[in-house]
Amino acid sequence: MILDIVLCGNQHLTAEQIYLRAKQISPSIVMATVYNNLNRLVDEGQLRRIKAADAVARYDKPTRHDHLCCIKCGRLADIQLEDLRERLCAASGREVLSYDLNLYYICDECRKDDERMQKENGPLSRSPNRDNG
Ligand SMILES: [Zn+2]
Ligand SMILES: [Zn+2]
Repeated sequence: MILDIVLCGNQHLTAEQIYLRAKQISPSIVMATVYNNLNRLVDEGQLRRIKAADAVARYDKPTRHDHLCCIKCGRLADIQLEDLRERLCAASGREVLSYDLNLYYICDECRKDDERMQKENGPLSRSPNRDNG
């Protein structure tokens, strides 16, 4: 069940979000069970644990792919880049088993929010003469 929750939807859920969904399916489930299952699935290679800007562990399908990570809202989007392992092996002189690559950006929605705020508040040049506090 836990595996299904993570794999369907491709949403990079946190353990807590997975727990809330699991609870809807099986109300008696406890958080510890979710954690145990997640740890086991990661150990078995059925899930991948990823961390990005907000350092919260999220769970993802195990297939090799990289992530675009919004620095504003923390949302992750999948991106398929070439496998750099061979180059990293050559560059490091070590046998690289895996790597995590996060590209940080501002997602479309946050960008729109920014633009809207700038329109509402006028240009960024804020007047320097404030009341003395
Ligand atoms: Zn965003
Ligand atoms: Zn992903």
